[in-house]
Formats: sequence, C-alpha cells, structure tokens
Amino acid sequence: MNAIIFGAPGSGKGTCSAGLKENLGVNVVSMSDTLRLAANQETSLSQTIRSCMQAGSLVPDEIVLKFLKKRLSEIPEENGFILDGFPRNLTQAKKLEKISQIDLVLEVEVPDWIIIERLSSRRICKTCGAIYNLQFLKPMVEDVCDEDGGLLYQRPDDNPTVINRRLELYERETIPLLRYYQTRKVPFITYTCKTLATPAERAVEYFVNYIRKLNLADF
Ligand code: ADP
Repeated sequence: MNAIIFGAPGSGKGTCSAGLKENLGVNVVSMSDTLRLAANQETSLSQTIRSCMQAGSLVPDEIVLKFLKKRLSEIPEENGFILDGFPRNLTQAKKLEKISQIDLVLEVEVPDWIIIERLSSRRICKTCGAIYNLQFLKPMVEDVCDEDGGLLYQRPDDNPTVINRRLELYERETIPLLRYYQTRKVPFITYTCKTLATPAERAVEYFVNYIRKLNLADF
C-alpha cells in the first residue's frame, strides 16, 4: 500500500507523516531528506544537488529519480510507503507511475491565514531542533528550549512576505497535481484544518480512520 502526501509548508504534513508511520507502520520517504543526504555524500552529483537546493530550485528530474528509485528499492514491498515531496509536477507524477503503483493520495489542507499565523510565531531550538509556537506551544522560559536549554531562533524564511511566496509556489505547483490525481481512480482523502490551535494529530486520526474504513491499512 503506497501513498503520496500533499500539504503546504507549515501545514503540519511532516508531523502528520510521522504519526501515520507510528500508527500504521508505514515507511515515510521524504524527498528533501533523501536529497539532503545525497548532497552530503561526495559524489559526482552532490555539487549539483547542493546548488539547486541552496537556490530553492528543483533538482533535475533524472537526479531526483535516481535517488528516489534507490530509496524505494530499500523498502520491502509489503511494507509500503508514504511519499512526501514527490511528485512536484506532472512530469514527475508520470515518471512515478512507471516506477511504483500509488494506491492512495492524502492532502492536508490548511487555510493560508492559519499557516501565516503558525509560521510567523514558530521558534526552533538551535541545538536540538525542537519546535515551539509563541501562541500555543510556548517554552517555559522565553527564547529557551525546555528540552536542552538551547537558544530558540526564527527561521529567516518564516516571515509573512516569504511565507506568502512559498504558499504561492506550493499552489502553483500542486493544484495541477491534485487535479491530476482526482481524475485518476486512486482514493483521494483531504483533511481540512479549521482552527489555528488544531494539532497535526487530528489529521493523523482522520487519515487513519479513513484508511481503516477503506480497508487499506495493510501498509
Ligand atoms: P523542506 O521543506 O523539507 O526543506 P522542500 O520541499 O522545500 O523541503 O525541498 C527542499 C529542496 O529540495 C527544494 O528546494 C528542491 O531543491 C529539492 N527538492 C525537494 N523535492 C524535490 C523534487 N520532487 N524534485 C526536485 N527537487 C526537489
């Protein structure tokens, strides 16, 4: 049972994938993590991957596919996977069809205003990467991580102007893909987050219940 998950930056898609992994035992394949790992190994392709990632532009398809195929081949077929960050466009979607069967598409839909509020008040620990939110997940001491006392910082791209740009890019890239999958005979589940304080775990519960109802739980 193989799935793709879609969600804008700040939609809680990462937390949601982690929750699905915990509940269903499915492997999560993050395209950006896979590429980050590849960028750090000294190969003939690592420099190209690094410069594309630094520039925020897409890594060329043939490189992405090479690492995706390798990563997917490490997963026993009976385990299944959730693919996060691939495909990013229709060309990649069509290429994916040639290498793997997709049984389910998940979409985490979060209104832009919630994403902007959430990301603008997000703070991250410099040492352990723990995530806080100044509105509903505050650290005990201002600017200090509860876990290890590390200093909390704000990502430079977590400001409303850049967030809006990232959201526009997501919509431009993803809406044609969502339409594409909606016209296929693949179950398509959308979870819609309605309030600022709703934790990503609600999306996990929603998807898990739905997947069980569809009888697709054999990840
Ligand atoms: P994150 O939010 O985890 O940092 P992004 O989805 O923004 O991840 O991806 C980071 C970078 O990785 C992108 O800017 C791009 O260079 C590369 N990347 C990720 N997924 C793909 C993909 N499917 N095709 C090409 N490049 C990709």
